[in-house]
Amino acid sequence: MKRNHAAYGIVFVAVVACLVFLAWTGGDKRKPVFGDDARVKLRKVSGTVRKGDVLSRLFKRNRLQVADLRRVKEAADGVYDLGKLSSGRPYSMTIDPDDRLSSLTYWIDDDTYLNLSRDGESLTAAIEKVEYEKRQLSFGGVIRDNLVASLGPGRDAVLLALDLSDIFAWDIDFNTDLREGDTFRVVVEGLFAGNTFKKFGDILSAEFINDGQRYLAYRYEVKGNAGYYDAEGRPLKRAFLKAPLNFRRISSHFTGRRFHPILKVYRPHRGIDYVAATGTPVSALGDGVVRFAGRRGGYGKLVIIQHRNNYSTWYGHLSRIEKGIRSGARVEQGDMIGRVGSTGLATGPHLHFEMRVAGRAVNPLTIRTVRAEPLVAGHRTRFREYVVSMDRRLNETAVVDGTSISSMLAAMERK
Ligand SMILES: [Zn+2]
Repeated sequence: MKRNHAAYGIVFVAVVACLVFLAWTGGDKRKPVFGDDARVKLRKVSGTVRKGDVLSRLFKRNRLQVADLRRVKEAADGVYDLGKLSSGRPYSMTIDPDDRLSSLTYWIDDDTYLNLSRDGESLTAAIEKVEYEKRQLSFGGVIRDNLVASLGPGRDAVLLALDLSDIFAWDIDFNTDLREGDTFRVVVEGLFAGNTFKKFGDILSAEFINDGQRYLAYRYEVKGNAGYYDAEGRPLKRAFLKAPLNFRRISSHFTGRRFHPILKVYRPHRGIDYVAATGTPVSALGDGVVRFAGRRGGYGKLVIIQHRNNYSTWYGHLSRIEKGIRSGARVEQGDMIGRVGSTGLATGPHLHFEMRVAGRAVNPLTIRTVRAEPLVAGHRTRFREYVVSMDRRLNETAVVDGTSISSMLAAMERK
């Protein structure tokens, strides 16, 4: 009872104080000041940087005092170059009733932001990093239709599917090799802020069973360089990708979920024909030097890349050769060199692909260049332990038909 009385008393005094204060300030609504400790109500704005935006334009758009522009620039000097705002990046500001900047947050990338805050007349700037909590997550699924569709809806699921396809890109052509009923299991870092899933980090290990054959990948770091290795510690990376039509590139080119950009693969003659839509991106199978780029008879627009050990790869009927792809240019594995087309002697759009060794055509599908040397002795024990722990994690991961990564993540957040 006594406490209640006291509380009423405090409320009463506060109300009277407010009334007196309002009367004194004339109830100025533009400057809502609460209490007498000068705590002011801040206007909060947020948005994304538009194309061509510079800081002064952001200031103008949000009706900020021009005098603060100089203070912001001074504060950020040596911390971050605010002259290079990138369009699409989010920002937020708090602004006091006098239209002075109270704080500014500009997201440099998804994990890093510039923070400016007012301290009296001056502003201080600092670059901050989001502190994520890493959790080890695992998922398993069955291939239906294509890899992206098999992980369920949502951006995070798509990104995970593409990362998974990159890991096995030397062994599996995710456009044409997949079979209904293939399965995958993956152990991946989930980055959380609070209890909210933000994004996936690195894939730590993965299993893919393609047409009855089991492929395994383990992420391992040697001298700061992370790569994927098989269970014996041999790198998965090889001199040649499994296919010149890269799943990641094609997936980002065709945004539909049920895409089948490669309609057919056949071998009517030397080489392989990939029947695909005009404009489908074509990637270099391996590192090398462009030996020819231009028109050549029945090949139409053709690119020839010279690789090590007398290997060369030929890409014909292109609708377009990428800028910079000319005789003598260096290319790296996976670089886009052109687009599928039907130039030369082609009845419809397709990529005519050949591989030659010392000038003689070979079947690229049966060429499996040997993997590089396995991890050196010094790493073997630690790698072995890692493989054992990851195998345990993979084995206890259920393979779920019709898995939905996004709903599994949502369930985790609710817990
Ligand atoms: Zn052909």
